[in-house]
Amino acid sequence: MLVVGAGINGASVFRELALHGFDAVLVDRGDFACGTTAGPSRMIHAGLRYLEFGEKTLVSEGVHERNLLLVNCPHYIFPLPTTIPFQSRFDGFWGVIRKTFGLSPGKRAKRRGAWMIKIGLRMYDRFSDHNRQMPEHHFTSRAEAFKRRPGLHGDTIGTATYYDGWISYPERLCMEVITDAETTCETARALNYVSAKSSQGNTVTLRDEISGQDIQVRPKAVVNAAGAWIDFANENLGHPSKLIAGTKGAHLVLDNDELLKALDGEMLFYETPEGRAVVALPWLGKPLIGSTDIHVNDPDTARCDEDEIDYMIGCVAHLLPDVKIDRSQILSTFSGVRPLMAKPAETTGQMSRSHFTNISEPPEAANFPVFSLVGGKWTPFRAFGEQAMDKLLAHFNKPRKLCTESIPIGGGKDFPRTDLDRTKWIENLSGATGLEADRIEVLLGRYGTGARQVAEFCTAGEDKPLANHATYTAREIEFIIRNERVLHLDDLLLRRTAIALLGELSGELLDELLAIFAGLGELSDDQAAAERKRTVDILHDRHRIDLS
Ligand SMILES: Cc1cc2nc3c(=O)[nH]c(=O)nc-3n(C[C@H](O)[C@H](O)[C@H](O)COP(=O)(O)OP(=O)(O)OC[C@H]3O[C@@H](n4cnc5c(N)ncnc54)[C@H](O)[C@@H]3O)c2cc1C
Repeated sequence: MLVVGAGINGASVFRELALHGFDAVLVDRGDFACGTTAGPSRMIHAGLRYLEFGEKTLVSEGVHERNLLLVNCPHYIFPLPTTIPFQSRFDGFWGVIRKTFGLSPGKRAKRRGAWMIKIGLRMYDRFSDHNRQMPEHHFTSRAEAFKRRPGLHGDTIGTATYYDGWISYPERLCMEVITDAETTCETARALNYVSAKSSQGNTVTLRDEISGQDIQVRPKAVVNAAGAWIDFANENLGHPSKLIAGTKGAHLVLDNDELLKALDGEMLFYETPEGRAVVALPWLGKPLIGSTDIHVNDPDTARCDEDEIDYMIGCVAHLLPDVKIDRSQILSTFSGVRPLMAKPAETTGQMSRSHFTNISEPPEAANFPVFSLVGGKWTPFRAFGEQAMDKLLAHFNKPRKLCTESIPIGGGKDFPRTDLDRTKWIENLSGATGLEADRIEVLLGRYGTGARQVAEFCTAGEDKPLANHATYTAREIEFIIRNERVLHLDDLLLRRTAIALLGELSGELLDELLAIFAGLGELSDDQAAAERKRTVDILHDRHRIDLS
């Protein structure tokens, strides 16, 4: 089995294949999780607003998966109280009532009033009835809402708060799904920087993007999990398709204490008159705002443009007029392209977020089928992987052996769940390694229970903080490079850590990390200089991070 694309959905099917004992290879033309998987708004959610478009199945599945993730990945996924300020009581309500009675809902409401939000939240809560992890929603009066957030827009007449999740390290979690798969099954192997380049007959040519070498494989079936690039990859595989209509979305990570304070540990959710949802949430101590929704033909060109910055800042200004955001406070930007199914809709916001597996039987030129994973959000990756696997099992006439619903992922295994267990876990590891409890706490946040291996590695040498970063040590960076298949410096800065996006990277830190990377990889001076240039270019071009 060949899986093309090591984003979260490719990783999910790869894990299913490994758990079922298939010989499987997972390849990505870039680093693991370098595509849209690294570009979400960092919400683990089912998309409350999709209820309005009748996507009940998608939303109930998302809520179920969100609740499972809170249990299976407690190291990276956390409850996120989400507050919606509203400006009217009845806007949109009559449309919902008409729809319920099978009548035309009429024109789509420009704003959602309290009653419409109430109906949506009641449904959203009900989807959790069988595996609830968080409290139900509640409403807050205008007076209470302003007491907590005096800066809210004056036309706010109240707020509604419900619970979703947020993810600290989506890229690391994707990598953990992959690593778990490899640990489970010795015939399952994942390779970053290897692309599916072309095919002939029953043979697919893979290209090692680092050495330039070609490798030929003869898969019994191919899973195309190339996200927004699915049609491009299908072309290479000899199965031309037109499955995807991608829309790009951008985000800003800010250094703005006023906004962080106004968020007060919650996500604020705001819908523009044209029906776009804009969110602002705290992410690893910084306010994150997003996103936009714009058609793109070539996903490789997606960047956060000037007008997207204006738009997002403008939305926050509407929500919280007193909070001033200056462009100089932008620490980084990031964009992704939603791999949405090609199906007409009035606006990009109304394009379906649901997913399905498209099976393309072998045309004359090739004799392997291609299973393309079309659509999908981050949150339901486990369910999507399982559904795709069911199709593969049916194709190969094999039974399902197990279900992934209750399998913890990576550093979520044996994670201490109560405050008391957490303290004990930290004390134990601190006693065993001699590292301070504070340091173990940081490692637990970064690696979950995988912190044990990191701590043991760190104490086998001198665990000294980097000269230019207070909470990473040289040993920890060495651990990541040696054990987490860091092939380029940007893998380390953007996907194994959040150093770059959080605005923690200076030229000096870049050089310090480069020295460790170059030393371990035995790079010549020229190679190290080329690596530095590549990193600086990527950070500038894709994330608006400027380093000398
Ligand atoms: C702005 C935005 C905000 C979002 N916010 C959220 C959110 O908050 N919560 C949520 O649940 N979802 C969110 N999503 C959706 C979610 O991020 C995506 O649906 C999900 O990440 C898609 O993952 P994927 O694995 O299908 O695709 P990708 O992560 O894009 O993976 C595809 C991979 O295929 C590789 N590839 C392409 N061509 C080839 C080839 N020829 N050979 C080898 N490899 C190849 C690429 O390099 C890439 O790594 C958001 C999306 C966007 C754009």
